[in-house]
Amino acid sequence: MKTESTLKIYNSLSREKEVFEPLNPPFVGMYVCGPTVYSDVHLGNVRSNISFDVVYRYLVYLGYKVRYVRNITDVGHLVNDADEGEDKIAKKARIEQKEPMEIVQYYTNGFHDVMKLFNVLPPSIEPTATGHLIEQIEMVQRILDKGYAYESNGSVYFDVEKYNADYPYGKLSGRKIEDLYSNTRELDGQSEKRNPLDFAIWKKASPEHIMRWNSPWSVGFPGWHLECSVMSTKYLGETFDIHGGGMDLRFPHHECEIAQSVAADGKEPVRYWMHNNMLTVNGTKMSKSLGNAFLPLELIEGSHELLDKGYGPMTIRFFMLQSHYSSELDFSNQALQGAEKGFQRLMNAYDVLNNLAHDGKDDAAVEAEIKEVKSLCTQIFENLNDDFNTPKAIAGLFDLSKKVNSYKEGQIPLNSLDTETFNLLKKTFKDLIEDILGLKAEDTGGDSGLTDGLMDLILDMRKTARVNKDWGTSDKIRDVLKELNVVVKDGKDGSSWSLG
Ligand code: ZN
Repeated sequence: MKTESTLKIYNSLSREKEVFEPLNPPFVGMYVCGPTVYSDVHLGNVRSNISFDVVYRYLVYLGYKVRYVRNITDVGHLVNDADEGEDKIAKKARIEQKEPMEIVQYYTNGFHDVMKLFNVLPPSIEPTATGHLIEQIEMVQRILDKGYAYESNGSVYFDVEKYNADYPYGKLSGRKIEDLYSNTRELDGQSEKRNPLDFAIWKKASPEHIMRWNSPWSVGFPGWHLECSVMSTKYLGETFDIHGGGMDLRFPHHECEIAQSVAADGKEPVRYWMHNNMLTVNGTKMSKSLGNAFLPLELIEGSHELLDKGYGPMTIRFFMLQSHYSSELDFSNQALQGAEKGFQRLMNAYDVLNNLAHDGKDDAAVEAEIKEVKSLCTQIFENLNDDFNTPKAIAGLFDLSKKVNSYKEGQIPLNSLDTETFNLLKKTFKDLIEDILGLKAEDTGGDSGLTDGLMDLILDMRKTARVNKDWGTSDKIRDVLKELNVVVKDGKDGSSWSLG
């Protein structure tokens, strides 16, 4: 381990920063809630995945052997989170007249494409809920056997009150069961539940529900919270190290995961709960219903009405990492443009550094200069060890960038550093930018004159089509370019393109 036992993680369960101590070092088990694949991946999801990508990368960097599991929800997530309504995927399949698994495959592919675009590493295992029906049925049975669930008309509900009598329900979100009651509507006489707080772990399928499996209780489907309990513990053990996800999943999703695991197996499933915060736009919560939620490709293309222009995926990644994962992240044109300039400055300094050559002589080295650079490098890692503080680590890289530029300009002679410190400086830049933050130079497209010329022509045709309101042609160009993995950015000074 490079910096053994100095990494601290804010644990949303204890509400404290705790020194990270894995159960079985050097192995680390990490589970992050993945997408429900029924629509294009939204930007909040991108942020969550970038946040945990850095956690994953940094743990690997520190020398841990990380088994990173991120699920795909392909059944059980209902339109209404209160155990009612249609399955999100089945609904989309009905609207588009497709087989549900076509919907699942299409949006899973799209999710992977977007992850790749933002340089998010794939997980070690990416299990699907439909691939773990047997295990989910087994867990429902274990919870029933322990007496913390009951069957009602073919469905099985988790008995929150019974559980709460033995274990605290609400410990992760800090909610008390009394308050939860006052915020829940009364059950009507038709309800299958004994108690409004109870949640379905198995649902009997109505006749029109197409995603259905046999079980001891009914032909039906699993409750949404169950899949994460099952798949995390199957691959990482009954208790594992890190569970991550967006803040909006803390309750009820993660709260229910704890209850299910404790009820079924008598074990706390997770040691460190981590939650990334939400996105805002000009200070207002980003949400579809407010019309201020732009999709990743809209942000890249600059095609949403709130955006002045588009930004490259690496700029967006850098922008996101300039905020701590647990803080809200606010999108505004000004902040994005600032990030774009900042990212260019950083990558320029990285280029300059890679072109600097130390003469290999250490006799002109200056003690104070060496000390300053070494301490800046150390500070960057101390910041990462402080609950993955990427904004402070990036600020440290900017301090080092100033140094790099003054070596280049000759304001400070480069050989005021000894070779060892110069190499440390180079290594710190490389390790941070490439390995830990996962940044790389924005791909500005091919450099062949023919490709550039052809692309200019295509973008011109698209522009003409749009001016003539010939949406058929402009959409076709957009779709074909998307298929070819070409990302078009529309800005005030015309359109540019890059390979995704
Ligand atoms: Zn989950």
